[in-house]
Amino acid sequence: MTSTMHNPLLQPWNTAYGLPPFAEIEAAHFEPAFATALAEHRSDLDAIAAQVEPPSFANTLAAFDRTGRLLTRLEHLFYTLAASATSPALQAAQRALAAPLAAHNSAVYMHSGLFKRVDALYQERQALGLTPEQLRLLERVHLDFVRAGAQLAPAAQTRYAQVMEHLAELNTQFAQNVLADESGYQLILRSDDELLGLPDFLRAAARQAAQERGLGDVHAITLSRSSIVPFLTFSERRDLREQAWRAWVSRGENAGATDNRAITQQILTLRNEQARLHGHACYADYALADTMAGSREAVTGLLSRVWEPALAAAEGERQALLGMMASLGHSFELQAWDWRFYAEKVRKARYDLDEAEVKPYFPLDAMVAALFDCAHRLFGLRFVAQPEVAGYHPDVVVYEVQGADGAARGVFLQDNFARATKRSGAWMNALRWQARNGLDALPVILNNNNFAKGAPGEPTLLSFDDARTLFHEFGHGLHGLLSNVEFERLSGTQVLRDFVELPSQIFEHWMSEPEVLKKHARHYQTGEAIPDALLAKLKAAELFNQGYETVRYTASALVDMAAHSLNHEQGPDVVDFEARTLAAYGLPAAIGMNHRMTHFQHLFSSSGYAAGYYVYMWAEVLDADGYEAFVEAGSPFDPQVADQLRACIYSSGNSREPGEAYRAFRGRDAAVEPMLRGRGLLPA
Ligand SMILES: [Zn+2]
Repeated sequence: MTSTMHNPLLQPWNTAYGLPPFAEIEAAHFEPAFATALAEHRSDLDAIAAQVEPPSFANTLAAFDRTGRLLTRLEHLFYTLAASATSPALQAAQRALAAPLAAHNSAVYMHSGLFKRVDALYQERQALGLTPEQLRLLERVHLDFVRAGAQLAPAAQTRYAQVMEHLAELNTQFAQNVLADESGYQLILRSDDELLGLPDFLRAAARQAAQERGLGDVHAITLSRSSIVPFLTFSERRDLREQAWRAWVSRGENAGATDNRAITQQILTLRNEQARLHGHACYADYALADTMAGSREAVTGLLSRVWEPALAAAEGERQALLGMMASLGHSFELQAWDWRFYAEKVRKARYDLDEAEVKPYFPLDAMVAALFDCAHRLFGLRFVAQPEVAGYHPDVVVYEVQGADGAARGVFLQDNFARATKRSGAWMNALRWQARNGLDALPVILNNNNFAKGAPGEPTLLSFDDARTLFHEFGHGLHGLLSNVEFERLSGTQVLRDFVELPSQIFEHWMSEPEVLKKHARHYQTGEAIPDALLAKLKAAELFNQGYETVRYTASALVDMAAHSLNHEQGPDVVDFEARTLAAYGLPAAIGMNHRMTHFQHLFSSSGYAAGYYVYMWAEVLDADGYEAFVEAGSPFDPQVADQLRACIYSSGNSREPGEAYRAFRGRDAAVEPMLRGRGLLPA
């Protein structure tokens, strides 16, 4: 047992930048530390509620925003380690803490004495003489209370808290099951015949994966995107492609201890009850009430505007694939595990573009330098590596982020590689948000990616898509690092969720700027800049297979909306529901789904994107329209537009209403056409 007397989680962190003392922290420290932090938070809240002075903004809202900082510090660290460097002991702590943490959250927002004061201020908010940010905080916090059940009758509150605790446990189990299915699978390739078609970069990565997993002198394909996707793209072995595809799409659907089918069904049942307790017909109505979109009609309106043209574009692509198959004398039916393989062949034939030819120009280090260069040219930031400062894993690189005046304004941790103890996907999170209000510390922002690491002594080479992901997450990172608000609740990416992908997606545009590519996309062996001819081919091939990509994404968003629009008390059999929904929408079998419900982390690892997978497309309307401001100004680095973008979007967090923030940047609402054009869904 670990003594709580020496629990580093409860000590001040006198480390560089106040980072957690990672090396000293053990999983066993968390449960006792959380017990202390929860009690401290409760007593701080009680003290606010018990004040005899009448409620004021300062003694209630600003004070509330300052409470719970020990708890927040712990939660940030706990979720960082659980996502990026987990262990069986940490997973056990996560399962044990899920319900108590959810119960605490309910207790905070159902604290009647506290809510009474917040509500009293809210009722007279226009007469309080608040600054715009103070008013925004008051409205935001009041809504947080209401949406967490503050206004429910006492019996309903009790049930609501039970539902939230149970959901937290199910979400945790769901995520752990997906990770177990992902890290438990590998396709071992032993012979030359099994490696047929695989380019050098994939062979090297597969060899490295086999070594990391202690498999010896073989090649291993894993379910990490940067392993499985190129395998499906290049492997000449149709039987192995099918095997790998089936493993990929059946995560969470395998009988036994990691089966997510019943868990997913239960989550849908409980979310429906949560929504009904709030008086909504279905979970989607509850979730969308606090978004820019505002309603199911607005979401399905956007998705259906895209769906039919995307199906038509994908059908055109399918015909091209069938033509390629015929020319090769392949006479079987095109299946989901074939699409990427033949698409790559068509891409090569039609555009003379070979992914294996592109990758040498995208070494990871050069692309990281490109990120920092863009952030410097746009926003004046400098990223200075701090090799002597340790992260939670040797792969993590720590940077001090300096403003134009040379002063430190944030800390950035970048963790780029896949490993068995890290969840799949790519994301940004914070160890500490930027805020003032008594919190005089730099923001600490993380980016995680899951790139397959190059062999020892070899660089890690990215695909064009990987590089886009790198830029995407860095855009979220800048949203955290450039935040300039008074209150922690309004800081960084804690905005409405159909606005949160705007700073990330708009940053992707710089990655494909020829000016950026010519400077940074350099051959890792020769240092030669990416040739104009190759750039032209990339540009020409840009829209090819966009029908496929759009159909896959939109199908996932439609299934999400359908599942969360059900108003039955009992959630459906999810496998059957998904199949029927996709059949009704006419998803072509040869496209297939790779976000099946039983492993759809966005929807079921938390409620973060539940009834919210549409947000990427919603934000794409904003980013496509927003980036045109640079095009209109004649330069991707136009200083005035960049400054507006920083002031209105990247720095303002949740301190202003998102529609208003966008209009302040662009001078008008966003038009949908640039997004449709960008995906090739408008007639030219
Ligand atoms: Zn994102």
